Amino acid sequence: MLLLRIMAVFLWVVAGCAAAVEVDFPGPPTEAVVLDIGHSCLDCGAIAPAALNGVRMTEFDFWYEYCYYTKKVIEAAGYPCVVCNRGMPPEDPRYKPWAERADVQHLGKPVEFPLRRAASIYSPDRVAAGIVSADYAVYRKAPAMVFLHHNSQGLKWSTKGMPAIILANRHNGVPLAESMAHVLNTTILNHGMDNGGKECSVETRHVDASRGGGWLNVCDDAGIPAVILEAAFMNNRHHMTFLSNPATARKYAEAVGHGVVHYLKNNRRAPHKRPDFNVPDDGSYGYKAESRQYKREIPGARYFYRELKSTAGWETNNAGRGSGKLAQRITGCKRSKKLKTRTSEHKPWNIGNEHQQKQEGQ
Ligand SMILES: [Zn+2]
Repeated sequence: MLLLRIMAVFLWVVAGCAAAVEVDFPGPPTEAVVLDIGHSCLDCGAIAPAALNGVRMTEFDFWYEYCYYTKKVIEAAGYPCVVCNRGMPPEDPRYKPWAERADVQHLGKPVEFPLRRAASIYSPDRVAAGIVSADYAVYRKAPAMVFLHHNSQGLKWSTKGMPAIILANRHNGVPLAESMAHVLNTTILNHGMDNGGKECSVETRHVDASRGGGWLNVCDDAGIPAVILEAAFMNNRHHMTFLSNPATARKYAEAVGHGVVHYLKNNRRAPHKRPDFNVPDDGSYGYKAESRQYKREIPGARYFYRELKSTAGWETNNAGRGSGKLAQRITGCKRSKKLKTRTSEHKPWNIGNEHQQKQEGQ
């Protein structure tokens, strides 16, 4: 009996070592392209200046409804694909059929203001809003990860061409971003969706403190090509006319899927993985609060906010973003709702637990 107990403890320890990172993510850890519906029901991201076709759309709403078509294109080409969202399922029942048909995996992370900052469980020096979705891509060994967003320049309509962009992680994401930009440029932008002749460009983003940099870096660390799609603008009347028509909205979502498939078929290359997780790289800078709080614990973290303010050029205008209250009115979600939390035993740099992050209040 004693021998059995010793054996059991031994096996438990061995199993614990093999699975250094413990997660309770939904779905099996099988390989799948991961599509992330940006933002959540508590913060819907950018919002159109006014209703078109009777709907005042947010980027969260758009992708919640149309991610299904992106997923279908990827699956039809023979690649498993899963859709995730970092928040809770919206309370409003109109989202339910969309969630069911796309089989949206809600990761239930309390990431909204003022609690939106969290550290990655796989790369704990990476700290960003909604980083749980990047962790989910690592969990699903994603051959490609797409963060589905739209951009905005504010709450005034414009009909000028916009700086459509796809942000890519530095080591792995550029071929994926270029494939997607190619498909958008040849089938959508200035082909039905007027953008004043301007095309979608690709830019790498790898500093954690720049918006989305932390997510992209978590994927880069694991060798996953990852991109943030920011090609359409919520305040561009041409773009929103295109995206508020169900037929052309579907075309846009499908073009995104075709871009991913184009990459998977033609451009796959050996992934670059982070060689040593104990050595910071030049992207490892958190926001002001994290840097202040964790600078002794996170290799490489330092006060970066001032530099960030002078260099950030993307989604810095909060005027176009759905306010928390408006978002909650749209989705029916309440901030007070108790959120599911995840557990992790992987805290090599004593980065703090969720309680500490709530205290931090960035
Ligand atoms: Zn967004």
